[in-house]
Amino acid sequence: MIQPVLIVGAGPTGLVLALWLTRLGVKVRIIDKTAEPGTTSRALAVQTRTLEFYRQIDLATTVVEHGVRLVVANFWVRATRVARARFGDGGVGLSPFPYALIFPQDEHERVLIERLRELGVTVERRVELLGFEDAGDRVRARLRRADGTEEACEAAYIAGCDGAHSTVRDGLAIGFPGGTYAHVFYVADVEARGPAMDGELHGALDEAEFLVVFPLKGNRRARLIGVVR
Ligand SMILES: Cc1cc2nc3c(=O)[nH]c(=O)nc-3n(C[C@H](O)[C@H](O)[C@H](O)COP(=O)(O)OP(=O)(O)OC[C@H]3O[C@@H](n4cnc5c(N)ncnc54)[C@H](O)[C@@H]3O)c2cc1C
Repeated sequence: MIQPVLIVGAGPTGLVLALWLTRLGVKVRIIDKTAEPGTTSRALAVQTRTLEFYRQIDLATTVVEHGVRLVVANFWVRATRVARARFGDGGVGLSPFPYALIFPQDEHERVLIERLRELGVTVERRVELLGFEDAGDRVRARLRRADGTEEACEAAYIAGCDGAHSTVRDGLAIGFPGGTYAHVFYVADVEARGPAMDGELHGALDEAEFLVVFPLKGNRRARLIGVVR
């Protein structure tokens, strides 16, 4: 049987594509080589435009309820607050979501997986794309199942949602232009006390070079992102 769409990768990209196609009545098969979804917070900020798209598939309310609205940014130099900007007001009247939303990626993925499950689609775990070929009117993909056996899967389309080290991108020789920062960054989700733990965004502009404190939901929880010096 030819699948209409084989989605490789169940990170945010693959999950949203699966949701959207399913809502449009297109059948999908979504696979991921990992045994379970990610358990770390990773990408935090959900942009206004994403929420506007989510509204079209009845997902915005759930996501907004789970997240923290980011409407104020503070900037500090040597332990003194030098600026406080309410950028939330800028989008009022332009969008129903005039803010960025802080919603950790692991929780976000769980919401997407649950919504897909409600629509009858389950992510097939521990199924890995090994390679594929373009057969004109279809794609022939080679998959390795959880039990180690191989499966031939034919699909009208293959969607490469398989992240930074994409097998699909390699197979198409698309390349991945761009570079990496010379700096080493740290990322830490913490419980802490102090003036920066007030549910707002805080950034240091001094010799710390780069340090941002993002509020997380819950009492005195925050994400720190900075540069290792
Ligand atoms: C520590 C950390 C912090 C981060 N912080 C931020 C942040 O603050 N803001 C931000 O915007 N981004 C952040 N990111 C990046 C963000 O997590 C990624 O941009 C995002 O996950 C990309 O989503 P994706 O769905 O495209 O790919 P991924 O999330 O990488 O998902 C790809 C999926 O494909 C699967 N896969 C890969 N190859 C195959 C194969 N051959 N067969 C089957 N399955 C396969 C993988 O198992 C994976 O589940 C962070 C990342 C890390 C690691």
